[in-house]
Amino acid sequence: MDYPGNLFVIAAPSGAGKSSLVKALLAQDARLQLSVSHTTRAPRGQEQNGREYYFVSPAAFDAMVQADAFVEWAHVHNHRYGTSRQAIADQILAGADIVLEIDYQGAMQIKRLFPAAAIIFILPPSWEELRARLVKRGEDAEDVIALRLKNAAEEMAQAPNFDFVIINDLFERALADLQLVVNAQRLRYPAQRRSRPETFQALRLP
Ligand code: 5GP
Repeated sequence: MDYPGNLFVIAAPSGAGKSSLVKALLAQDARLQLSVSHTTRAPRGQEQNGREYYFVSPAAFDAMVQADAFVEWAHVHNHRYGTSRQAIADQILAGADIVLEIDYQGAMQIKRLFPAAAIIFILPPSWEELRARLVKRGEDAEDVIALRLKNAAEEMAQAPNFDFVIINDLFERALADLQLVVNAQRLRYPAQRRSRPETFQALRLP
């Protein structure tokens, strides 16, 4: 499938610091737009419908699956999450650069559909550090942490299939790496041709 903007997919195991990195990336790069997913899980804390997610019932999610309304969807931690065609359609038309913050299953589906998408995996620097970060959150009981670590092992086994790997050791360093990937992607021939058509025309390049 052809896509006029740049598409970035960012996946990571829970505790790797993905959300903070994506938030900081979006704050410093105004050309990036975050896609808002649908989920069957309930809102947490200050989350608002239409901002972090569209929160829908399992029945409403089923109906969207039946109507082929998702470009990808997956079961993650006992809930379902999906990227709707609508969530990215307007941004695609505007030629915007889109960021999908989704799990590895969704990332693989997107890569099949949009081969030019950059799929990026964020790793923690070590198992000890991942465990320490999960414990530090203070939100979860010991058995929940054990489950998250087990899930993290499955998720991290997918890292070799990704285009880019960022190790979130020092936050600022990881953020700079992420911005480098975004910038490099924008320098690919088709992306440059899209953003500077007059230059390519003047140089008589296809
Ligand atoms: P959380 O419930 O903590 O917000 O997210 C749980 C996991 O679901 C995270 O790994 C998140 O990236 C992933 N996720 C969020 N939205 C989507 C989506 O639209 N599709 C897929 N495949 N995963 C998603």
